[in-house]
Amino acid sequence: MLAKGAPDAYVPAMTAQFAFDNSFARDLEGFYARIAPTPVASPRIVKFNAALAEELGLDAAMLQSEIGAAIFSGNAPPPGADPIAMAYAGHQFGHFVPQLGDGRAILLGEVVGRDGIRRDIQLKGAGPTPFSRRGDGRAALGPVLREYLISEAMHALGIPATRALAAVTTGEEVYRERALPGAVFTRVARSHIRVGTFQFFALRSDVSSLTRLADYVIARHYPDLADRENKYLTLLDAVMERQAQLVSRWMMVGFIHGVVNTDNMAVSGETIDFGPCAFMDAYDPLTVFSSIDEMGRYAYANQAPIAQWNLARFAETLLPLIDADREKAIAIATERVVGFTDLFKSHWLGGMRAKLGLARAEEGDEALVQDLLDQMQASRADFTLTFRQLGELAVGSAPESLRGQFLDLARFDGWMARWKDRLARDGRSLQDAAAAMQRVNPAFIPRNHLVEDALAHAVERGDMAMFEEMLSVLSRPYDAQPAHARYAAPPPLDFGPYRTFCGT
Ligand code: AMP
Ligand code: MG
Repeated sequence: MLAKGAPDAYVPAMTAQFAFDNSFARDLEGFYARIAPTPVASPRIVKFNAALAEELGLDAAMLQSEIGAAIFSGNAPPPGADPIAMAYAGHQFGHFVPQLGDGRAILLGEVVGRDGIRRDIQLKGAGPTPFSRRGDGRAALGPVLREYLISEAMHALGIPATRALAAVTTGEEVYRERALPGAVFTRVARSHIRVGTFQFFALRSDVSSLTRLADYVIARHYPDLADRENKYLTLLDAVMERQAQLVSRWMMVGFIHGVVNTDNMAVSGETIDFGPCAFMDAYDPLTVFSSIDEMGRYAYANQAPIAQWNLARFAETLLPLIDADREKAIAIATERVVGFTDLFKSHWLGGMRAKLGLARAEEGDEALVQDLLDQMQASRADFTLTFRQLGELAVGSAPESLRGQFLDLARFDGWMARWKDRLARDGRSLQDAAAAMQRVNPAFIPRNHLVEDALAHAVERGDMAMFEEMLSVLSRPYDAQPAHARYAAPPPLDFGPYRTFCGT
């Protein structure tokens, strides 16, 4: 069925081949609603990720044309697509919502890439689904481009995250507080299965569906566990391990997801649904950007405890699969979830050691890290620049501007002396340590003031030049790019406090 006023769905004479193999739709009947995207008036590609298309084994050249516009708007799902909206529940800001589901996202299907990895191709903003509740099923161009940019920046930083394949404008308006240009985002993910997907079936005490889901997740994401004893308990361990790694990586680059509800936590271990996310400039562990996170539940430093809270909800869904004796299952699962604290801590400390160029572990390392962080907090030092410039200082070539960020110079100099002694004890040259630091401490993150600037140009003036340039700079975040120094600079003093919105 066509939207009123829309031209006939554009059916390309030649169609791009997607080697779809839709295992979720095929194996998990009852876990989704079949629903076609709603066609849009006049789709136009504003950004396309040709490199990712190639990795997925798609015909990038063909997709860059109006054929791609028709496909990525949902107007002409390619042959073999089996469009569905997935069911899930979730705790939003701690409150359980029994039915969420894909309210504005439609999974076209799965393709197996050149690397052998199976990935979902999902259209976000493709029209209403049975899970839309009061929403319109649509997305606006600004948030779509924002997700595009941040997804690709995360990927380039080496952090598992959903990817961006395409952004198309629809030629229609969406109404939020005002009329905005509509867009559809094509998202690529290892899967879209969330903690909330498990919660949807746990709520119904539907152990048979839970078992099918857990088996599917093991086969798709953790195949090594298939033959293990008590494989569902090992699944809990494996998901915890990936989340501990993931959240510690967020912490290493100052990333604040913003809305780590259980429905926004993927069991694959990828960063997903980061609508109101942002990167911290000045170091403050209590940083919150999301306008709806009034209590700071998802503040920078709260992300690990919140991940643990979410994993406790995940563990609860697995109880009937872990042991028939519920009390016993609770005891086992509780012990595992409590262990997340130490698991995360070891990843975090390992990451921080790398940021400081430390090759080995020593007893006093955590205190050394914490002392630096405390000074950074007191001085509101820039998180990204501090670590980047420390690497340069290590070899004596740093600008004085780093020292200038600290209020208590004597304390900072004392710390520097202890750090250099500590580096010396590792037995590798300062040059080697400094080089290692530059490989883990990015020069470039998506700076909030620049993201806003690039999006304003793109959305209000249709000028994609800054967006393109920023995307390109952020694709090599660890390389010094002197010609692009402005993308490394902290916000101007008049930028003020930054607020983000959920992007619906
Ligand atoms: P999110 O905050 O993006 O993770 O979304 C939370 C829930 O709201 C999910 O079930 C979404 O599918 C749904 N949702 C968000 N925006 C819309 C929209 N514009 N129309 C329909 N459902 C939406
Ligand atoms: Mg979500």
